[in-house]
Amino acid sequence: MSIHEECGVFGVIGNPNSDIARDVYHGLYALQHRGQESCGIVVNDDGVFASHKDLGLVGEVFSENILSSLPGGRMAIGHVRYGTTGGNTVSNIQPMVVSHQKGNLALAHNGNLTNSLVLRDRLELSGAIFHSTSDTETICYMITRERLKCASIEQAVLSAVKYLKGAYSLVMMSATKLLAVRDPMGFRPLCYGRREDGSYVVASESCALDAVGAHFIRDVLPGEMIVFTMNDVESGAGPVSYTENCRDHRTPCIFEYIYFARSDSMIDSVSVHDTRVRAGKILAREYPVEADVVVGVPDSGLDAAIGYSIQSGIPYEIGLVKNKYVGRSFIAPSQQQRTDTVRIKLSPVRSVLSGKRVVLIDDSIVRGTTSKRIINILREAGASEIHLRISSPPFRHPCFYGVDVDSEDNLIANHHSTEEIAKMIGADSLGFLPIDDLGEMSGCASYCSACFDGNYPTAVPTDARKDRFERKLSQKE
Ligand code: SF4
Repeated sequence: MSIHEECGVFGVIGNPNSDIARDVYHGLYALQHRGQESCGIVVNDDGVFASHKDLGLVGEVFSENILSSLPGGRMAIGHVRYGTTGGNTVSNIQPMVVSHQKGNLALAHNGNLTNSLVLRDRLELSGAIFHSTSDTETICYMITRERLKCASIEQAVLSAVKYLKGAYSLVMMSATKLLAVRDPMGFRPLCYGRREDGSYVVASESCALDAVGAHFIRDVLPGEMIVFTMNDVESGAGPVSYTENCRDHRTPCIFEYIYFARSDSMIDSVSVHDTRVRAGKILAREYPVEADVVVGVPDSGLDAAIGYSIQSGIPYEIGLVKNKYVGRSFIAPSQQQRTDTVRIKLSPVRSVLSGKRVVLIDDSIVRGTTSKRIINILREAGASEIHLRISSPPFRHPCFYGVDVDSEDNLIANHHSTEEIAKMIGADSLGFLPIDDLGEMSGCASYCSACFDGNYPTAVPTDARKDRFERKLSQKE
């Protein structure tokens, strides 16, 4: 399928030991599902920043030697990336580090600015020279520009974010402070926790807090900035919250619950697993069918399959097994080999499927090619009927907030009805989660569902500006 995860951010302050880089490494490992193109760690060793970044998975980029070569320190941040603005080049790898007249700034960003092209144009016209094609560098510039005028990093960030539009969950580090910032709409998640040794941890998802032994304290509020200083951490005073940019109306990304986030994470006090189970229950209520077994497509279809089974009373079974070792470096088969990637990633459990009427649960349909292949695999394993249920509404529109959805032309739901799609992919029946049930599924009073209904919560870039900028970026790269 052609949806790509966005990015994951992580930060720690107050670690009394010398292995802070290893803390970030473990946190990034837990966030690997949010980005597999590149990753990086920056350690703050008494105001001196040391970093290592590269293209690849966390386990590939950070060897034992590299982790040992990073200095100890009391503060560090890290990032895993899937690029949404800018290409997959070394210059775009995060965290980004900027040295300026008043010190250093390291910054890690999850999300996508909707006005980065406007801001970048203005900055370039005033003499700024960019080294990357990423909107994160624009944020670094905006903050640095304000920092030169302001007395503190806190004031500089509060002033700079007033210019930013779109999605940004940020973890930043100056010589003495760690800052966590979430955009006022709260598109991307961000939370923090504390460990028994007194250190604080900030992460995109709570699963990364668990990975380093921190207990979850709370989500960073949409619009909030939380500042952790070494002095406050050591004295036990705790972080300071700035809420002047918070608003009543928030629109967290509903697709985080359906697909992106890990099932064991909590986002804005809602369990991702519970949300997916509820989606399955809704599908069973809205699209009941006589069947022998409910099967989920690993990984994010499994929780919803459990929900469908609970609601319908049809037994849940493991009918597809995922090859856990097919990673980024997997070399796709050639045309002559007449095999497809899905077949190598997913294997059917024949004893579960043979002669059975199967309810198959997946999280989304983008082009329809993957669904068709999975249905073929189930048919070949002997399934007598396949009723596909999708735990999201049909994809119809692009995302401007940090998720790389396929182009509108390639989205199958843009050109075909549900019945037509069922026929094209070979399903006996098909049902999508009704868009009106997203609130019941997530428990959120308001949320972004623009890729399903086209109702963007903010202004989005015009096509003319996007085209011009993409041409400009391709010349640069
Ligand atoms: Fe999430 Fe879709 Fe909104 Fe993007 S457009 S933030 S993927 S709900």
